[in-house]
Amino acid sequence: MRASQLHQPTLREPPKDAEVISHQYLVRGGYIRRVAAGIYSFLPLGVRSLEKVKTIVRQEMNRAGAQEVFMPAIVPAELWQESGRWDFYGPELLRIKDRKQADFCVGPTHEEVVVDLARKDVRSYKQLPVNFYQIQTKFRDEMRPRAGLMRGREFVMKDAYSFDATQEGAHKSYKVMYDAYQRIFTRLGLDFRAVEADTGNIGGSMSHEFQVLAESGEDNIVSCDSCDFAANVEKAPLPEHGFVPIDPNVGPATAVDTPGTKTIDALCKLLKVAPRDTIKAVLYMADDQPAIAFVRGDREVNEVKVKQALGAKALFLADAEWFAKATGLPPGYVGAIGTGSVKTVLDTEIRAMTRAVAGANEKQKHTVDIVPARDLANATYADLRMALPGDPCPRCTGKLRAFKGIEVGHVFYLGQKYSKSMNATFLDQDSVEKPFEMGCYGIGVSRILSAAIEQNNDARGIQWPVSIAPFEVAVLAVDPSDLAEKLYVELQDANIDVLLDDREERPGVKFADADLIGYPLQIIVGRKAAEGIVEVKIRKTGQRLELPVAGLVSRVKQAIETARGGKPIELGAA
Ligand code: ATP
Ligand code: MG
Repeated sequence: MRASQLHQPTLREPPKDAEVISHQYLVRGGYIRRVAAGIYSFLPLGVRSLEKVKTIVRQEMNRAGAQEVFMPAIVPAELWQESGRWDFYGPELLRIKDRKQADFCVGPTHEEVVVDLARKDVRSYKQLPVNFYQIQTKFRDEMRPRAGLMRGREFVMKDAYSFDATQEGAHKSYKVMYDAYQRIFTRLGLDFRAVEADTGNIGGSMSHEFQVLAESGEDNIVSCDSCDFAANVEKAPLPEHGFVPIDPNVGPATAVDTPGTKTIDALCKLLKVAPRDTIKAVLYMADDQPAIAFVRGDREVNEVKVKQALGAKALFLADAEWFAKATGLPPGYVGAIGTGSVKTVLDTEIRAMTRAVAGANEKQKHTVDIVPARDLANATYADLRMALPGDPCPRCTGKLRAFKGIEVGHVFYLGQKYSKSMNATFLDQDSVEKPFEMGCYGIGVSRILSAAIEQNNDARGIQWPVSIAPFEVAVLAVDPSDLAEKLYVELQDANIDVLLDDREERPGVKFADADLIGYPLQIIVGRKAAEGIVEVKIRKTGQRLELPVAGLVSRVKQAIETARGGKPIELGAA
């Protein structure tokens, strides 16, 4: 491709709405243009990078035995009603009507469609296992679309769905996908971790997220400093404390006046205690009923855990006024003792507190000298707190470390969740109709572009891994000569994806564009061209070498071919 013929509208300034670096560079580099909130057009460079990601995903899915299909974006409501998700999925689901007023949605994920596909045509155990995948445009009406392709409303996903006869088979299929994902993200040149994850809106019981490590990530990850445990904090289980004896010197729990102490801070100041000696109440509306979760005052609740502990389908923070009316308890002074018939659950860490302060369930009063093992012995305890760095590992004696991640892939074991609700069965060896055992596996194809840039950038622009770059090599014709043209042709013949910047622009413009767009290897054909010498620059490291033209193409070819597997480019010495 010649830059003179390429639509590459690079910009000097980032758009006003772009805070995150990948968003800025995708727009400035001429990759994408905003159409509406969370909705983008891909320009030629954007399409090239997106297609490269798709190709790697496709190759690895095919290699893992999955078969490509293409399902509709627009899905009839009936299928979603069958699975029960029409009511359950909430406002992220874009619902539309056709001219006959029939309900449809724009698919945010395709379990329903694929289950319908399988139940119609996969009738016998002999056809199992089977894994269908597609690369398709999804729509989710995200509450906060942000950061360009990172959280779009319309975005490109690879979604795969495995069907097995047995649970054992399904676990095998899961492992096959897990391994394929490892290969995909390695080939994409990303620094990633597979972590244990919550199963969210999709449901099921076993799941791993593939997280690209980046400061700008929305996900909080913890990993053990001594074993290989790693999990999304949403999911990270925390071990129970060991047995703590009751201190006989602590008097009975007593209510004391604590005027104006609705916050933990104010309370601690007044009573001269530390937040870790207090019990904090978090008020919820769980399936329209009031509920309270208690954690230590220095902790944050993990809503995923609370939802699970309460067995709630929908969980929202309660409006204080609504809560007071519904329970008669005074928000700001709610404590663990004396909550009447309100559903409560306490974090297991509370059981290990020896002397605690909590609300007295009376305005302007708190209860001191609470010994949970004595005073709250019959309460319901569960793991409710958010994991923090320094917390003990649930698997070994190590400690947890924290980092941020961007979720680029997700594998779920689904079991019979959808096959049962949608009555999708096959005839087993013993001639019995059985529901399929399923798994589902997503990759955020368009999000990967953002994630890769978050990990690979500097002040001048993008530093693409070779496997995602729109062009692997750019030949920058700085001084007019035939050499640039010749190299361009030879590199093309060597199967290198090469761009020739043949525009009538100043050298400075060509250098700036090449760095902004992020071509991994740049060959600058300048003043020394007459002597048969060019300058070669590796974008990621900034390394520059003056190299003779003789042998250059084969050297570049070798370096690029190695880097296509996800490794950095290495040219060796001059
Ligand atoms: P998130 O927690 O980021 O909302 P999710 O759990 O809803 O993700 P899945 O339903 O597992 O995501 O979707 C599969 C993959 O699709 C995700 O791993 C992610 O990479 C990508 N993805 C999900 N939502 C978006 C979005 N709004 N924009 C771009 N990519 C997305
Ligand atoms: Mg989501």
